[in-house]
Amino acid sequence: MPTIAYIDHPDCLLHEMGAGHPERPSRINAIENQMRASHLMDSVHHYEAPLATREQLARVHEVQYIDKVLNFNDQDESVYLDPDTMQTPQSLPAALRAAGALIHATDLVLTNQHKVAFCNIRPPGHHALPDRAMGFCFFNNVAVGVAHAIEKYGLERVAILDFDVHHGNGTEAIFTDDPRVMLCSTFQHPFYPYSGADTNSDHIINVPLPAYSAGDVFREAVTKLWLPALEQFAPQMLFISAGFDAHEQDNISYLRLHEKDYTWVTEEILAVANKHAEGRIISTLEGGYELDALGRSVVAHLKVLM
Ligand SMILES: [Zn+2]
Repeated sequence: MPTIAYIDHPDCLLHEMGAGHPERPSRINAIENQMRASHLMDSVHHYEAPLATREQLARVHEVQYIDKVLNFNDQDESVYLDPDTMQTPQSLPAALRAAGALIHATDLVLTNQHKVAFCNIRPPGHHALPDRAMGFCFFNNVAVGVAHAIEKYGLERVAILDFDVHHGNGTEAIFTDDPRVMLCSTFQHPFYPYSGADTNSDHIINVPLPAYSAGDVFREAVTKLWLPALEQFAPQMLFISAGFDAHEQDNISYLRLHEKDYTWVTEEILAVANKHAEGRIISTLEGGYELDALGRSVVAHLKVLM
């Protein structure tokens, strides 16, 4: 059985936004530790993420913004790019590795070296807009991978499935006028970043969920709205913006998902991939801030993908 590609990089551990910030390096370790405890590390093929290039980022970001991040003055201790997102001297390598992981994953999957890849990276990406950082995100990692699949490999239909508890407003902004990309998203609403509920597009399938919704509401949303749209779209490849902050134990939000819901949605996504996309899936970490629940949820997710 082909193993899945597991992509990370030690640079992703160096970026820190201050004591008490929920988007912290220990998230990566928590996932790794749970994978080890569940003996999953023996079943993955490990790769280190390369640095994304300016050209690869420029497919989805404005060069003015890229250059602002690239030209960070190392004499500065820190600069706030957004009220939640601080750049320090260690942020740039982490952000470039995070986006580069998606480039490498896309290359591995589209050259048939692996069917499935998981990127255990940070900073996350789905709030990053074409022209600015937002909500802990520097570059829109998943969008960088999708654009690579389209530009380098000529794919015509790519789907992004985003079950992070927050609306992936950056991803939507990047692909809002690109019918080659279907974005299916569930998110708590009204909630940060307060967008997505009023989108009217046949390739952006947003499903706002009220606070305190549990797995039954989530599953119904996916079954009634994501799956029929995906069936019609017939994607050639699937990307997952895998945020696990909708977990009941994650205090950042008020949804009440559990590991079994992540298992279920991953099975549904895998079925779509097997039917339409030769099983090609790239999953990348977005949110998830309660370390124990995060590690267990990622393990549940990966067990299906394996
Ligand atoms: Zn989130």
